[in-house]
Formats: sequence, C-alpha cells, structure tokens
Amino acid sequence: MTRAKQAPEQSERPRGNPAAENYSWQADASCRGVDSELFFPPTEDESGPAKAICQTCPVRLACLAFSLERNERFGVWGGLTEKERARLSPAARDAIRRQAAAA
Ligand code: SF4
Repeated sequence: MTRAKQAPEQSERPRGNPAAENYSWQADASCRGVDSELFFPPTEDESGPAKAICQTCPVRLACLAFSLERNERFGVWGGLTEKERARLSPAARDAIRRQAAAA
C-alpha cells in the first residue's frame, strides 16, 4: 500500500485552511511513539489494533476532523479507516467538524 502521508502524530502543518491549522492536539495523541505502520494496515480487516489505540485517545475527535479537513485518503484517523471516512455523509462530516471546533 502506498504510504501517502505520515502518521497522525507526525503530520505536517496543514496549509491554506485556517480551520485546520490548529494541530496542537497531536501532542496528546495516543499514537505518539507507536509504529506508524500500524495505522496503515494492508486491509480493512487488519485495522483493529490501530482502532483500539484510537478508542483510548483523548484527541480522537480532533484527529478525525483533521483528516476530514485534509481529505486524507489513507490510513486510520480518529478511529476510522479510509473507507469508513468515505462513507460519512456530508451532514456527519459537518457535525464532526463542529464538535471538534467546540471541544
Ligand atoms: S485518534 Fe488514533 S490516529 Fe488519531 S491521534 Fe488518536 S491514536 Fe492517533
């Protein structure tokens, strides 16, 4: 699988969208220090270990909103795989962004 990006806790600062420019949440990421390969499983069925870490993560919502803002196409972000993120409705995406902004 192509690794198109770094793991969430290693991401570069997003550009061009003020709403996505606050990335201080990454300091509290539960995946800090975890092998980033875990978050890029070869198949959806192998995403369980990454998702288990995300479920304990205090910044899960911010991470998910960040990935949606950046239209991240690969990997587990905020506890969701790329396919799961792709299935989110526009209304669900908006709700996630609003909740993350309010947190
Ligand atoms: S939600 Fe998951 S991928 Fe995102 S910062 Fe937390 S542990 Fe890392």
